[in-house]
Amino acid sequence: MTPTDAPHHPRRLIVLGSTGSIGTNTLAVAEHLTRTAIQPFQVVGLTANTAAPTLAQQATQHRCPSLALADPHTPFPANPGLDPTVFRGPNAAEQLVHETDADTVVAAIVGAAGLPPTLAAIQLGRTVGLANKETLVAAGPLVMPLVEQHGSTLLPIDSEHSAIFQCCPELGSQNSSPKPAIRKITLTASGGPFRNASKAAIRNATPEQALKHPTWSMGPKITVDSATMMNKTLEIIEAHHLFGLPADQIDVLVHPQSIVHGLVEFADGSTLAQLGPPDMRTPIQVALTWPDRLPGCSDRPDWSMMSQLEFQPPDLDRFPALLLARRVIDQGGSTGATLNAANEAAVDAFLNRRIPLGRITELVTDALDATPTTPITSLDDVLEADQQARRFVEDRLASSPVSA
Ligand code: NAD
Ligand code: MG
Repeated sequence: MTPTDAPHHPRRLIVLGSTGSIGTNTLAVAEHLTRTAIQPFQVVGLTANTAAPTLAQQATQHRCPSLALADPHTPFPANPGLDPTVFRGPNAAEQLVHETDADTVVAAIVGAAGLPPTLAAIQLGRTVGLANKETLVAAGPLVMPLVEQHGSTLLPIDSEHSAIFQCCPELGSQNSSPKPAIRKITLTASGGPFRNASKAAIRNATPEQALKHPTWSMGPKITVDSATMMNKTLEIIEAHHLFGLPADQIDVLVHPQSIVHGLVEFADGSTLAQLGPPDMRTPIQVALTWPDRLPGCSDRPDWSMMSQLEFQPPDLDRFPALLLARRVIDQGGSTGATLNAANEAAVDAFLNRRIPLGRITELVTDALDATPTTPITSLDDVLEADQQARRFVEDRLASSPVSA
């Protein structure tokens, strides 16, 4: 479809986690598509955790009628020109999703906090652009059947998963066309700030060092996940649920340039890859406009300057978090929720200087060792496993505190 015959009726958009890195990039893409009249968007709902002033400013800029703020105490700035409905408290985003008519919901809250509103959007049959990978890691066995059952469309925003999806849309779960024979998919990893660091340096890294990502600019939690490579573990599990592939068909390669985002190797020997500069506006636009290809706002690559694309297998000795993906996929059930919540709690402890970086993967491994796998059949099952893992990490930190 060309831009001139693109549909012009505005699409109603909710952005969950609109004040974060993915959220602000999503609003930038929606604004670009609206301003250029390529595909207008009407922003109908925005949510944040505590960033009330930014949320208020976004509401004014996008004339958004419904807002949600998880923190019940932060005062919300009055705005004489606009009188939005403001949902407050821990269930505010979920309430907003239930009470706001929308076509597309972008799930860009960080962590398991994003699960309930994302699940609500799926159950309402919305098109969901999924950045919040923790939703699938913690609740994949619950989420994917609901996508089918409610006729929702789940489009990946995580760049590697967007790449795989673009190379082979038939792999998307809700796509009923026959799946082509795939040998394997490969997710690339930048290697993070410690790609060439020694084991000891990685173990003792400080938040300042871990938050310096070489190629991507992202929120703090995913940046720490990139430093431990737990991000790639989460992404392997995410890919397993999204594309219905077993662990041994999902590979990871370290690719320091972050230009090739994902590769699909077909059984006939052909491989397709998706390339682009490390700019999340591209996968966001793909999700917002799929299946159309419309003019975008990200910087264009200069391929003539691209002299080097390197790939190497990850070092499992220095980045043992990667070993946990297969275990979670093979054990299934509540194991993903345990890994995810233990990691969130450990990352939080690291950012608060209670533990060194290397302790994160150890704590997550200990939580998996100590927790039996149980079936996941409801959101309550996920939340129970999540709480148990957080308590486990907290108890461990209380009994053996190690400061960074
Ligand atoms: P961020 O920290 O920049 O933003 C997080 C957003 O979630 C903010 O709007 C914040 O207000 C909101 N939020 C945080 N805790 C909340 C809570 N308890 N309740 C309600 N809202 C809450 O994070 P980000 O980098 O934008 O990442 C968002 C998600 O997208 C994560 O799951 C991340 O893994 C994924 N992702 C991010 C990138 C990236 O480039 N940033 C790339 C791929 C995937
Ligand atoms: Mg990614």
